[in-house]
Amino acid sequence: MTGHYSRQHLLAIAPLQRHEIESLLDLGNEYVDLNRQIQKKRDTLRGRTLINLFFEPSTRTQSSFELAGKRLGADVMNMSVAQSSVRKGETLIDTATTLNAMHPDIIVIRHQDSGAVALLADKVTCSVINAGDGAHEHPTQALLDALTIRRRMGRIEGLTVTIAGDVMHSRVARSNVHLLNKLGARVRLVAPRTLMPAGAGEWGAEIFNDMRHAITGADIVMMLRLQSERMTGSFLPSQREYFHFYGLDREKLALAKPGAFVMHPGPMNRGVEIDSAIADDIDRSLIHEQVEMGVAVRMAVLEALARQLPNDERKS
Ligand code: ASP
Repeated sequence: MTGHYSRQHLLAIAPLQRHEIESLLDLGNEYVDLNRQIQKKRDTLRGRTLINLFFEPSTRTQSSFELAGKRLGADVMNMSVAQSSVRKGETLIDTATTLNAMHPDIIVIRHQDSGAVALLADKVTCSVINAGDGAHEHPTQALLDALTIRRRMGRIEGLTVTIAGDVMHSRVARSNVHLLNKLGARVRLVAPRTLMPAGAGEWGAEIFNDMRHAITGADIVMMLRLQSERMTGSFLPSQREYFHFYGLDREKLALAKPGAFVMHPGPMNRGVEIDSAIADDIDRSLIHEQVEMGVAVRMAVLEALARQLPNDERKS
């Protein structure tokens, strides 16, 4: 049986071991097939309650956790922070402990501050999944990206993956660098100097400032969104200039390996970090496949955590 993930939470990729990541990918791969069938329901999480607690907007992540939970038979509640007491000044910890008192089994949390999700995980008794905390980590994004790459390329080991754009503000970049390194890929990071964090050289990736050099010979080009909402000052002269130097278009993509694939976690800024012609090219772009893998991987994570819950009958 697949699945050797025996932790209570999923908070980050950094502390995970290769076999834990691979077990989640293997399980996710099984769910891809299930999700393509008419009957998509399982009762793995029957009787369980899943709460989605999102302090930041989300389309893909929140809806895919909701679908994943429902397909596994859980009761799913989406907490809209806009309508909750958080707006009335309730602290983060009060909100989490209030929800915890309702006996959820798993809480999925997205928060604008790095470290906030780990802090909450300490205060509750249920399992916690980090759905993105500030510029820190977004572990299920890295897992779904890895599953997408593995299914397309047949492997991750030995591939050259270029992650390009606003590395500074990107939790997607951090989680992906950790995961791809652990699975044996060669990772390159490229950003303008103002958007490359000072410590990036220690993450285990090769650092570039020139997009053309970074893309040359890559198997996968992963574009990042320019995260204007996290920028406290002016990091760029103009979006037009940014597209000229760092935006992915056909001419720059031609430097990658023939047939190299393009990825983007979404939401995309078309014409800013990626040209529409590339984003919509079904032969090169894996963007929709990433969304499909997102549901499957989140089902895998939910199942793996549910196995660790007290009174789970299937726990050996
Ligand atoms: N959706 C991803 C995240 O939540 C990427 C992005 O927002 O740019 O981090």
